[in-house]
Amino acid sequence: MSVLRDKTTGTAQFRGALEQIAILLLTEASKHWPTLASEIETPLAPMSAAILTRPVAFVPILRAGLGLLEGMLRVVPEAEVGHIGLYRDEVTLRPVNYYSRFPAGLVQSHVVLLDPMLATGRSATEAATLLKAQGATSIQFICVVACEIGIEQLRSVHPDIPIYAAAIDRELNEFGYIVPGLGDVGDRYFGTL
Ligand code: URA
Repeated sequence: MSVLRDKTTGTAQFRGALEQIAILLLTEASKHWPTLASEIETPLAPMSAAILTRPVAFVPILRAGLGLLEGMLRVVPEAEVGHIGLYRDEVTLRPVNYYSRFPAGLVQSHVVLLDPMLATGRSATEAATLLKAQGATSIQFICVVACEIGIEQLRSVHPDIPIYAAAIDRELNEFGYIVPGLGDVGDRYFGTL
């Protein structure tokens, strides 16, 4: 987290750290994935083993969510991937959906929604609403940094969606950035200005 937070961290190191954190966050979130017991045999003995009951689908919110995707796919390379693109309407300040593509089996899937920053919480809330409109019933939200406003916003509309965060920071500034936070994750990950 300190590498990610440090403003002198370059793009390559930032990408690497984000990938590592994604793996750690997914390790925690996956403890709660739905499983059922199945009888298998190891080379030494029969045993009851946990098998996932649903395929896993990762859905990054564009564009910063893509920064978490690589780490996620290292852990679950067979996962399906969807995308949700949202921009902020300058007048209403509400997120507007400009792009979405979902895997065909979303209804059956366990969906992990990805956005590194849970700031106002509006994008995550809108994305979760879109996922549910597509029939998703089993959803987790993974971010790197959250703040209380964002957590309350997402929880107020989607109390059924658990939130996984590596840190909860103290505030949101007037531009909607989390402070101290990481800065603009999309720009830092893609090396844009
Ligand atoms: N998006 C970012 O990239 N950073 C923030 O602090 C908030 C939203």
